[in-house]
Amino acid sequence: MSDPILQAEHISRRFGDFLAVDDVSLNVQRGHIHALIGPNGAGKTTCFNLLTKFLAPTSGRILFNGQDITADSPVQVARRGVIRSFQISAVFPGMTVLENVRLGLQRGLGVSFHFWRSQSLLSQLDARAMELLAEVDLQDMAHELTANLPYGRKRALEIATTLGMEPELMLLDEPTQGMGHEDVGRVTALIKKVSRGRTILMVEHNMNVISAIADRITVLQQGKVLAEGDYAAVSSNPEVMQAYMGS
Ligand code: ADP
Repeated sequence: MSDPILQAEHISRRFGDFLAVDDVSLNVQRGHIHALIGPNGAGKTTCFNLLTKFLAPTSGRILFNGQDITADSPVQVARRGVIRSFQISAVFPGMTVLENVRLGLQRGLGVSFHFWRSQSLLSQLDARAMELLAEVDLQDMAHELTANLPYGRKRALEIATTLGMEPELMLLDEPTQGMGHEDVGRVTALIKKVSRGRTILMVEHNMNVISAIADRITVLQQGKVLAEGDYAAVSSNPEVMQAYMGS
């Protein structure tokens, strides 16, 4: 049964004369892990920027939970529960793992700093931060300096910080990029785990990750949707093989 949480209807984005996203329609079903794939320059990042309203579409409409969010600001989109996981550079290396998650919770609540001197509020926040760290299997590293975490563990921390913002739809931008085989496996399992009760839209290049966890895949090429379907359908599509897999 179709139950879309996010619908992009004929969205386009022009940069000068160049159409980076060209009449893209996309339905992300509630509870799915939906992957956006395509060669470099296909328009994936621009799509993410449009869906989170970091960029305004030149034309088209975006609906979240059936409501038109095309005119929303990025902050309004985030308040609705569409949360984009930012790059690791957004995590502060000089803070402990716990402090980073706590800071994310503070930011999510949007309350100014002086309120957080209250000891009871701080301990409530720490308790929630520890729950989030447990969800991503980082509780044993709570008091480590973030700078000392291995790369793959930093990605888990970033996911914990994102979960603290109570996402209904989480957007992950190349979550396994630059990782070795072992970390890729861990992060793939983690994404599957945190997807329970949530919806995930991710840009991902690693086809092993996609075949393991993606319920649905949209393939972009030169700003347009080339194909959409499950892994079996997309990976056997001759146009996709030609354009994306180079065979
Ligand atoms: P992908 O994420 O799939 O690699 P992008 O969305 O980053 O693709 O880029 C799609 C195309 O749009 C590329 O050709 C890129 O050069 C172009 N593009 C992206 N952002 C801008 C911009 N701000 N100004 C001009 N061209 C842009």
